[in-house]
Amino acid sequence: MQIDGEKIEGLIKDGGAALSQSPAILEKAAEARGLSLEDAAALLSIEDPALVQALYKTAGEVKEKIFGKRVVLFAPLYLSNYCTNGCLYCGFRSANREVERTALTPQDAVREARVLEKMGFKRVLLVTGEDPRWGLDYVISCVKAIYGDTGMRIVHVNGPPMDVPEFRELKASGVGVYQSFQETYHRPTYEKMHPAGRKRDYQYRLDVMDRAVTAGFDDVGIGALLGLYDYRFDCLSTIAHSQHLFREFGAHAHTISIPRLRPAPTGLDGAPRTVTDEEIKKAVAVYRLSVPSAGVVVSTREPAQLRSFLIRAGASQLSAASRTSPGGYAGNGDALEQFSTNDKRTLHQVLSCVAEEGLLPSLCTTCYRVGRVGHDFTEKTMAGEMSKFCQANAILTLKEYSLDQRGNGAALETVDKTIAASIDEVNDPAIKKALLEKLEELEKGKRDLFF
Ligand code: SF4
Repeated sequence: MQIDGEKIEGLIKDGGAALSQSPAILEKAAEARGLSLEDAAALLSIEDPALVQALYKTAGEVKEKIFGKRVVLFAPLYLSNYCTNGCLYCGFRSANREVERTALTPQDAVREARVLEKMGFKRVLLVTGEDPRWGLDYVISCVKAIYGDTGMRIVHVNGPPMDVPEFRELKASGVGVYQSFQETYHRPTYEKMHPAGRKRDYQYRLDVMDRAVTAGFDDVGIGALLGLYDYRFDCLSTIAHSQHLFREFGAHAHTISIPRLRPAPTGLDGAPRTVTDEEIKKAVAVYRLSVPSAGVVVSTREPAQLRSFLIRAGASQLSAASRTSPGGYAGNGDALEQFSTNDKRTLHQVLSCVAEEGLLPSLCTTCYRVGRVGHDFTEKTMAGEMSKFCQANAILTLKEYSLDQRGNGAALETVDKTIAASIDEVNDPAIKKALLEKLEELEKGKRDLFF
């Protein structure tokens, strides 16, 4: 995998020149077939307020065309903050002597996952620093413990890059998505930000997804940490990365995350490049229009109000109730956090807010478990076939949530109203009939029903 930095810088410069074509590019984007890097660069250059609004609107419409109204909710689970890397922006960097280091045991990880399960989560993203003492075997033992001792239905991993044989072992443990961020695709900035540890090797990290897919990970998640370099360079490079995966392996990146640099204990003093809210909105919209099949993921680094906007402008997944410290759910609070979060609402608050926005909160995990992954997933989403599954599965998981949280004193009127309204919106008569039957089974106590 190569990033042609000169070409990307050139596209950023030429983006302004191509601006006059942006209405035509938006028309093309509305077809939900993706965009070239040239088109994406032009859209990132839009400044005219009416065109900017048209960009957000088109991205929202394309998201709905691809995934329906559903917004998937998940939580990260931090396993270990031991790390041998020196990333200047991260609270876990090895030179940070002030952070208390800890690694959860598999039993601790189970305890954490159970807290999340009680909240209503069905999928969890394990996050870990890079330290050979807490390497592959450790992560696998945590994955297996969570599958064995909790009701979590899918476990994803955000962890250090590895070689193909190690990836094979990780995949065999039942992990769904493997996620790793390039942080910045701009090589000189990357080298400056990563002065120590294995992560210094730009190319090894850039090739990580080629190795992961080769090893059998059908679904991989990519992203850039916006704020290290010009956000347009990193956005366009992330899109180029996904296009590379599609060319080589027939599937786009399963997810594109959009982390923005946040204050971290004894990390950098402020972001090297400030990224404004308007730029985050543009980045989300351009990711959606350039790679329509990808889940565009917004974390709790962003404030609640902005997240509400972004789910109408192309984002399709939100993390919720996140603690970025190992043990943060069951006891440690924020003491060991990697970075400070901006949206501290509970899952119930986030879920209710998504519903109040007229969208459909979803705790679905189906595709990973029925093999709608990789090339098949990309093909089905691009053909517009995924939204019917997403909608029906979101309704089923929301119904489970409502039934299971009833005893906890949660206010469920908004959730129940959303379920009823969403059932009315199911157009396919066969799916509607089967959905009503499955909903009845859930009422009778069955769980984990899906399409
Ligand atoms: S049906 Fe597939 S794509 Fe849709 S929410 Fe469920 S797992 Fe995700």
